Amino acid sequence: MRAFSKLTAAAAAALVAAGLAAGPAAAAPSTTTDVRLITFNDFHGNLQPPSGSSGRVTLPDGTTVNAGGAAYLATHVKQLRGQVANSVVLSAGDNVGASPLDSALFHDEPTMALLNELGVKASVIGNHELDEGYRELLRMQFGGCHPTDGCQFRDSYPGARFPILGANVRFDNGLNAALPFSVTVSGGVPIGIIGVTLEDLPLVVTPEAIAGLRFGDEVKAVNQSSRLLDLLGIKTQVVLLHQGDNTEGGGPDECRTTPGPATAIATAVSASVDVVFTGHSHQQYNCTVTDPAGKPRALVQGASFGRLLSVVDLKVDKRTRDVVRPATRAHNEIVTRTVTPDPVVQALVDEARTKAAPIANRQVGTISADLVRAAPASGESPLGDVIADAQLAATASNDAQIAITNPGGIRTDLTYASSPAGEGDGVVTYGEAFAVQPFGNIMQTVTLTGAQLKTALEQQWQPQPDGTVQVRILQISSTLHYSWSQSAPVGSKVSDITVAGVPVTDTATYRVSLNNFLAAGGDGFAVFAEGTGLTGGPVDLDAFTAYLTANQNLAPPAADRVTVLP
Ligand SMILES: [Zn+2]
Repeated sequence: MRAFSKLTAAAAAALVAAGLAAGPAAAAPSTTTDVRLITFNDFHGNLQPPSGSSGRVTLPDGTTVNAGGAAYLATHVKQLRGQVANSVVLSAGDNVGASPLDSALFHDEPTMALLNELGVKASVIGNHELDEGYRELLRMQFGGCHPTDGCQFRDSYPGARFPILGANVRFDNGLNAALPFSVTVSGGVPIGIIGVTLEDLPLVVTPEAIAGLRFGDEVKAVNQSSRLLDLLGIKTQVVLLHQGDNTEGGGPDECRTTPGPATAIATAVSASVDVVFTGHSHQQYNCTVTDPAGKPRALVQGASFGRLLSVVDLKVDKRTRDVVRPATRAHNEIVTRTVTPDPVVQALVDEARTKAAPIANRQVGTISADLVRAAPASGESPLGDVIADAQLAATASNDAQIAITNPGGIRTDLTYASSPAGEGDGVVTYGEAFAVQPFGNIMQTVTLTGAQLKTALEQQWQPQPDGTVQVRILQISSTLHYSWSQSAPVGSKVSDITVAGVPVTDTATYRVSLNNFLAAGGDGFAVFAEGTGLTGGPVDLDAFTAYLTANQNLAPPAADRVTVLP
């Protein structure tokens, strides 16, 4: 003991001497290394600054600020990297799919080019990474031209310079269908990055796209990879989880989540995991959960569309190479548009826009007159009729009997006259169809009872807290008819419901096709979420264009599905 003290004293003296010799600025060497993780989620090909509410971030006081746009995102990433010595850029999935035309037309190759340019080190398979199937995911990863469309964006597609992970994605034979984790080194610290997607992925992707794949328990998959990283001596472990919780509002750095799957997973996974980045729910939150060892663990999500960057600053003990957990600092950085857009990324964004223009003008069908979304008193619109009929046709293999869609999902009219692009009268281009159905919603078919169907139709009238009634008339396929009464009270306005001409009874069951937004109870149609026997279908836009192609010279349907009674 005595000898040790002596040695320590001597060492201290030597340090002091060294300090004096080096001048007043010298300090004791740090025992930790700082590593900054910069992650975005659910980018969905938003190369251009997203518009409307998709391009705004809500602040804690309820006001909003414009945010997003790939060139601004790149500038913010560079700034965040410039502030620190060591940083790693990551993505929590849904980089592609349900994306705007500029990216979607090229099978999201421009977006993959962006991620390469941003220096992303790892991403995870989101549900939308599988929209076009597993083979297309492999092409996204490894490169090559699209098997049917070829290389439309550039002469070749080189693939992703980072792994697209999926620890719980397996083939039917049990073998891994994706790399479960990757290791990157930053500031001399080896960092294990585990990717895991939502176990419920089959509910939000069309079955054909994921044939032969299985999606396992998220916690089990993370722990399996985490154990392996433990054995390899990789103590700094990060999870990219493509699953998220909902929130009851709140600013980017508040934690007003309604604890759901993300909180449950982030709380349960191995204590070796230091940070959990999430996605999928497009929410903003900055939470801390307690891991199984009782230590704090960051749980964050950065909204969507490149509006926020989730920044987690870690202090890693140089000796143990493990994260000093209480010293973790996390925040969501708003991708404001007040910075100078990154010139390299701006050129990429402009290139995609320029090259998209001619493809957007591809003819998908013809119409004999305007198909408008505005509706007369009944609430039934010509364009709503056509879209619902298209959705029914596209889900015939799900045994769908009727299709119902939300008016808010129909964004603009299809007009007979030439568009500024110059195509002939009555011609519907892909770009025009895309503008009508831009959200990339996935069709789903559920079983509802007659009573539930009646409830859904009654939910078209929703009493508001201020005493008014919000009316939102659903658009329905030609197989569904009903009447509603102007004078009847809310809750009993609907009568004479028929499906294929047969009166609906409370106990009979019906296969009903809805987009995934409505099927989840969106727009206040809570009863739709009670549907059972859910089967996935195609993207709504694909259903729409297929119908336009199959029904040339399409006329506005007769408005006979909804009857208004006094
Ligand atoms: Zn998702």
